Amino acid sequence: MEKRAHLPNVGKALRMEKRHLQVLLDALRGAGYTVIGPRVRDGAIVYEEVRSLADLPIGWTDEQEKGHYRLKGRGDEAFFAFTTGPNSWKQFLHPPILSLSRARRTENGLQWELPNDPPPRYAFLGVRACDLHAIFVLDRVFTGGQYVEGYYEARRKATFLIAVQCTVAGGTCFCASMGTGPKAPPGADLVFTELADIFVVEIGTDQGAALMAQVPCQPASEVDLASVEGRLEETARSMRRQLDITGLPDLLKRNLEHPRWDEVAQRCLTCGNCTMVCPTCFCFTVEDKTDLAGTEAERVRYWDSCFTTAFTYTAGRAIRQSAKARYRQWLTHKLATWWDQFGMSGCVGCGRCITWCPVGIDLTEEVWAIRQTDRAQREGS
Ligand code: SF4
Ligand code: SF4
Repeated sequence: MEKRAHLPNVGKALRMEKRHLQVLLDALRGAGYTVIGPRVRDGAIVYEEVRSLADLPIGWTDEQEKGHYRLKGRGDEAFFAFTTGPNSWKQFLHPPILSLSRARRTENGLQWELPNDPPPRYAFLGVRACDLHAIFVLDRVFTGGQYVEGYYEARRKATFLIAVQCTVAGGTCFCASMGTGPKAPPGADLVFTELADIFVVEIGTDQGAALMAQVPCQPASEVDLASVEGRLEETARSMRRQLDITGLPDLLKRNLEHPRWDEVAQRCLTCGNCTMVCPTCFCFTVEDKTDLAGTEAERVRYWDSCFTTAFTYTAGRAIRQSAKARYRQWLTHKLATWWDQFGMSGCVGCGRCITWCPVGIDLTEEVWAIRQTDRAQREGS
């Protein structure tokens, strides 16, 4: 019979055999959580319900570049040797389609129904450092101001977070230059790092400690902790992209008429993929629908995108009619005016918008191009 560690305290690090991740999955399910984690689906690693270790993309990795994503076998048994995929945790906390209310005409007049189901209890398994930052960005947007978005707040409060620190860098990642990874920030219930044969598990909260008390594990050694630091440094060093964030909001604001916006508009399809895959883009629209008989109506919230013409349709016309205006709005909001609105960056360096842009537009290249001419102009003046 295996020995179980005493109830570990917050802040402690444990070593856990990889097969015992199943014990943790079972404990989470026993505690009433639906575990959402990475799975292979349609040639990509997506987030869906995970019930057993067999569901995880063990032995898979992803190859990512501008407009390019492929899965490859690694020829080993690594559990988490891939990075971010086309979807993110946003879809569970801020669903793409949400019914806000329904009305039905009855003999007794209109009957209104407001959704009052309890929020789903999700345990997110495999939250990367950049995506943990993205959740904190959404927290700020939806719950950090005067008006709190109740649906988001309820889901977020019910969510258990298991971060997994990246031990490989994706081809389009640039979190190291943004200060958003690969080391996970505080805030997760548990933080995993995968080493060759074990997971090192850092305990972030009392709930995390209570769960880990049900899993066979031992205290992590100094060697384990040094290996974690070494793997994170190696991941950061191997990141091929970077975004120089020095004075970035001011740089973009003083270059709103830069010719680069015209160049990128020649390529941009205004498809909105970048906003759909982005873990922090939160814009939505609300539509009222009725049936043909006029007896039922529903108010539904949908994700929207600043790349659609309808997004700025006001008083008979769209305000941002050109691709240039829409791309510039998106990029300057992410990297500049988000600071004015929320006191933080709207970009966490996950690289999804680069990978999933069908024409391979790369925001790090766009900013670099603007910075080069801005610097040359300022040095010449
Ligand atoms: S930047 Fe790329 S993904 Fe975004 S709207 Fe333009 S073409 Fe689509
Ligand atoms: S803007 Fe691009 S790199 Fe930044 S968080 Fe969104 S998808 Fe990730």
